[in-house]
Amino acid sequence: MTPNADIKKLQRNYIPDSFAISDWGALKPFFEELVSRDILSKDALENWLKDVSEMQALISEDACWRQIRMTCDTENKELEEAFHFFCLEIEPNIKPYTDALNKKLIASPFRKELDQNIYYTFLRGVENEIKLFTEKNIPIHAEIAILAQHYGTITGKMSVDIQGKEYTLQQAARFLMQSNRELRKEVYIKMSERRQMDEKALNTLFDELLAKRHQIAINAGFENYRDYKFEELGRFDYTVKDCEDFHDSIKKYITPIVENIYEHKRKQIGLPELMPYDIDAEPEGQKPLEPFNNGEELLEKSIQAFSNLRPYFGDCLRKMSSLHHFDLESRKGKAPGGYNCPLAETGAPFIFMNAAGTADDVVTMMHEGGHALHSFLSHDLALSAFKEYPMEMAELASMSMELFSMDQWPVFYQSENELKRAKAEELERALSIFPWIATIDKFQHWMYTNPSHTQEERTAAWMKIYSEFAPKNISWTGLEKTSPFCGKNNCIYLKFPFTISSMESPN
Ligand SMILES: [Zn+2]
Repeated sequence: MTPNADIKKLQRNYIPDSFAISDWGALKPFFEELVSRDILSKDALENWLKDVSEMQALISEDACWRQIRMTCDTENKELEEAFHFFCLEIEPNIKPYTDALNKKLIASPFRKELDQNIYYTFLRGVENEIKLFTEKNIPIHAEIAILAQHYGTITGKMSVDIQGKEYTLQQAARFLMQSNRELRKEVYIKMSERRQMDEKALNTLFDELLAKRHQIAINAGFENYRDYKFEELGRFDYTVKDCEDFHDSIKKYITPIVENIYEHKRKQIGLPELMPYDIDAEPEGQKPLEPFNNGEELLEKSIQAFSNLRPYFGDCLRKMSSLHHFDLESRKGKAPGGYNCPLAETGAPFIFMNAAGTADDVVTMMHEGGHALHSFLSHDLALSAFKEYPMEMAELASMSMELFSMDQWPVFYQSENELKRAKAEELERALSIFPWIATIDKFQHWMYTNPSHTQEERTAAWMKIYSEFAPKNISWTGLEKTSPFCGKNNCIYLKFPFTISSMESPN
């Protein structure tokens, strides 16, 4: 049966329809009632779970909107304050009650009567949450949520002047595709210098985050934040050792393939050696792909591509469009990156990205659209908690959609040659992103297991780990002062309790 994209907002049965979160005082009576309710049968337990779920959906949607509005306009103080209010005045009060509800569920004699086929994964997650919870971490989590947001505020302000015009870094990255090498070099250096202007602020911010994250791990009885986070992310199926083996495999098998891709590129553009600003360049006489001109066109064409793939997929994007759940174009003041934010009550999620008219933006849109379909398809699940899939599962939907949608890309590329170029780029990207992923992951392992490092040691570790995975046929001669960065949109998958763990090089 084809699912219906015209999903309806969840009906409230426990909390009044008119209820909106104003302050903690308004929410507290519901939590009090849920914690103290007598549960005398399996049916009563299931009803109680539904009421808890309704509460979670309401809070999650409220928190997500605060975050969406703020990332769309990081310079608006009111929006920032609304987000801070939630982090400091609401969420810290919720957490002890969430723990009490978790414990009440696990202690209930009727828990064992719940159908394990439906509840097993959920109950495993609840037990994990109880294990990790400590009162001491509540204020630290709030501080981290706010600090992590500063990253978006600092980088959202970044812009560069090129040929007398101001561009966001996402827009400027388009120049790195031009065949004019002098221009590419100039833009690359300008982008790098602009980032370096905030080096001190970002390093200080990161030091603060690192110290707080380490404290959280210690408070929860772990040796370091890496080990704590591994459990918090619900990684029941693989270990730290598996990650390390994965890094080694990438180095051994993928980096040489990426070197071949770059060698092909070098020959194509006819250079003696490739510099970092040559990687995305087009050969002389070939213009970069221009799949769309603005956010509106990107959306229209995406709806068409999704519809051609399966009408239901297109209907999902149409539904989101009718609710104005898109903010696609890059502009100054927007947080970086792209995300699909599930909205637990409404069901139709929100897509945020920084499109500048490139082929990469099409991929990002297909990717976030994949997440969006996942949100639509899970909307009917009985409990909010059932919709909390781990990020590995989330990225499966999105990255698959990048590849599934490829045959529908003639919507974006009119000529056979352009289509072929776009597809080749996507297939190359699917491989060349692995060394970058391994670099970031190994770097995080290093940082969190060496929490007392200095900024200099961190930079040195970043450079060392970067060079371990980076293709060897890229020359940095003359660019030693710049630091490798990724200009591409990195998907940040949002969920509740929401964390944006923006990772960047320390430079
Ligand atoms: Zn994603």
